[in-house]
Amino acid sequence: MVKAIVVGAGGRMGRRIVHTILQTPGIEVAGAVEKEGHSALGKDVGELVGEAKIGVIVDSDLRSVADRGELIVDFTAPEVALKSLEVGVERNLALVIGTTGLSSDQMGQVRAMAPKTRCVMAPNMSVGVNVMFKIVGDIARILGDDYDVEIIEAHHRFKKDAPSGTAMRLGETVADVLGQELDKIGVWSRKGLIGERTPTEVGMAVVRAGDIVGDHTVIFGGIGERLEVTHRAHSRDNFARGAVKAALWVIEQPNGLYDMQDVLGLRE
Ligand code: NAD
Repeated sequence: MVKAIVVGAGGRMGRRIVHTILQTPGIEVAGAVEKEGHSALGKDVGELVGEAKIGVIVDSDLRSVADRGELIVDFTAPEVALKSLEVGVERNLALVIGTTGLSSDQMGQVRAMAPKTRCVMAPNMSVGVNVMFKIVGDIARILGDDYDVEIIEAHHRFKKDAPSGTAMRLGETVADVLGQELDKIGVWSRKGLIGERTPTEVGMAVVRAGDIVGDHTVIFGGIGERLEVTHRAHSRDNFARGAVKAALWVIEQPNGLYDMQDVLGLRE
């Protein structure tokens, strides 16, 4: 039985992850952590997600519950995810990190620390999106520079980072295939008399509205046609199920930094 500690257990994703773990054989919730002052603190985490009590009380200190688990699942905020990683390395716990919005400096810290333990980190844990990453790369490879690539993402009004980690990853996938860097060819907004589109740029458009769980579209625009690839998440459960799949996978792996392409066997 894999013993998981869920950091951010009271959050939108944290609650779905706890719920999914409770329904999944072979894994259990051994600890739950929330930030100081959060209303979930002191509550039984089973009850928090609308299920029966499981005898695990939400705590505010990861270090004090770390020894109860073998694996940390973190869907929180960038600085919190780095702290979870630090504790994971210190206590030799495996990690699944779904948190997005890390700066390139913070990602550098992840790349330095994560291989000291077993860690899956992915901006989007859904199976469908990970298939999308793969086929978008394949399409970009086939179409090359002749087609204009534009990425549109839409999320709920509460999302804090933009563009989404998934949209960034889609952009990086295309830039990589074209031998470019997203930082150089990404166009983050357009307004005014900006002139014609340059052939290599990758446009990125962001929508924030209501309770949209997460939509991503990549447009490959040619002359006389366009090809669009769209993924729409209907609920957070697809991310939670992916995170639990990653947890059951990573616990068996040697030390290293992995992503969902590895978990799903999609890496070439
Ligand atoms: P949320 O704000 O609902 O949840 C985050 C939770 O973390 C909150 O409950 C918050 O109190 C808690 N938290 C903050 N500081 C903490 C600390 N020091 N210790 C413990 N808990 C702390 O946000 P959300 O919608 O659940 O998203 C969380 C993250 O997951 C975001 O970065 C989001 O982009 C990402 N996300 C990733 C995927 C994926 O598949 N990888 C899918 C959805 C969301």
